[in-house]
Amino acid sequence: MVLDNLGSSLRGSLDKLSGKSRVSEDDIEEIVKEIQRSLLQADVDVSLVMELSDSIKTRALEEEPPGGTTARDHVLSIVYEELVDLVGESTDIPLENQTILLAGLQGSGKTTTAAKMAWWFSKKGLRPAVIQTDTFRPGAYDQAKEMCSRAEVDFYGNPDNDDPVDIARKGLEETADADIHIVDTAGRHALEDDLIAEIEEIEAEVDPDRNLLVLDAAIGQGAKDQAKQFDKSIGINGVVITKLDGTAKGGGALTAVNETDSSIAFLGSGETVQDVERFEPNSFISRLLGMGDLGQLTERVQRAMEETQEEEEDWDPEDMLKGQFTLKDMRHQMNAMNKMGPLDQVMDMIPGMGGGLMDELPDDAMDVTKDRMRAFEVIMDSMTESELENPRSIGASQIRRISRGSGKDEERIRELLQQHKMMSQTLKQFQGMGQGGDMERMMK
Ligand code: GDP
Repeated sequence: MVLDNLGSSLRGSLDKLSGKSRVSEDDIEEIVKEIQRSLLQADVDVSLVMELSDSIKTRALEEEPPGGTTARDHVLSIVYEELVDLVGESTDIPLENQTILLAGLQGSGKTTTAAKMAWWFSKKGLRPAVIQTDTFRPGAYDQAKEMCSRAEVDFYGNPDNDDPVDIARKGLEETADADIHIVDTAGRHALEDDLIAEIEEIEAEVDPDRNLLVLDAAIGQGAKDQAKQFDKSIGINGVVITKLDGTAKGGGALTAVNETDSSIAFLGSGETVQDVERFEPNSFISRLLGMGDLGQLTERVQRAMEETQEEEEDWDPEDMLKGQFTLKDMRHQMNAMNKMGPLDQVMDMIPGMGGGLMDELPDDAMDVTKDRMRAFEVIMDSMTESELENPRSIGASQIRRISRGSGKDEERIRELLQQHKMMSQTLKQFQGMGQGGDMERMMK
């Protein structure tokens, strides 16, 4: 994730403020240096970094901390606010009829983003359609079609037509029933005149409400030129940053936002259609600083629950986070996991769980692969209600019985119990850490 190490290095220097009621100039110098180092490493534009560090310095030294606030919390809240300010507001994307045009270089993630955004809109109750006008990249048509079918959204493309403007026109006609039209365009390896000419023609044909520039998070300072060019030719309203799941830096994308005077619309963090979220500055920065983001987590849990139709079974994720973690919880968790994304990603959103804690857990603590999940499902079906509620009661004789009933090795059943134990311990750590965290204090 962008600026990944900012959270931990910053926490380190903030911890040195513990117990102090005032910040000295030296303290703030050190903190600002940490922030500068991380931002520059993440490819954020130097002038932006300087602007940010000046404001942090001035504010931390001049502003009076609100009564009862420690120096640490005071500085943390300033850093937080300034970073939120740096990334800016999210691009306005109303949930209503509109046409969105995607621009960007080849490989930036446009086609994937088109399907992801369509999926996102469909989850908001709208009817999106993706129109694929990329006649340049072989395979773009098949890829888009396949992803749209996975996202269960309408799709239009025509591999036999090599005129993108014509495809766009027909696409809009053919998908007239949809309320959201997402028009994917071709990219090139580099900015070339014919790419710009083509996208200008498509733009003139479809008359989009929004033009979004899709940028690979790894792009670095090259983002600046691209952003300028696209902005000049079609006007850019917002940016989508993709591949935030990689070792990406993301700072270049921030520069592009600044350059086009636009904002960030969506974030992509994986190859499947569900790996997308609306950019939300507060939650983005909280996660960056390892402060967690319960808002996002709740949204994901709810969405997963709706999809797995678990809600009628009287299962409340809050209970799981608060109290005993039973095998039933584990089963719900496993069912929901595919929909929510890997649990370690989800854990990143929980206060106190991000920023390296996951690294300290055994590698497989949260890793329940699909095969294991299936085996675990079968095993759990052979357990009694009271065993599911109270897995500690399961001894050797029960394991033998469950093994016979499920047709699974006893070893597998022990593995399941072991997995449950690990997940349970992890959640216990969270229960201890999640309450009264930095964010809650800060937001008061
Ligand atoms: P396009 O040429 O701009 O349409 O780019 P594609 O949508 O084909 O994406 C290029 C490659 O990046 C593909 O292999 C995608 O699977 C991959 N990709 C796109 N978005 C993401 C993302 O958010 N995370 C990861 N890991 N891969 C992505």
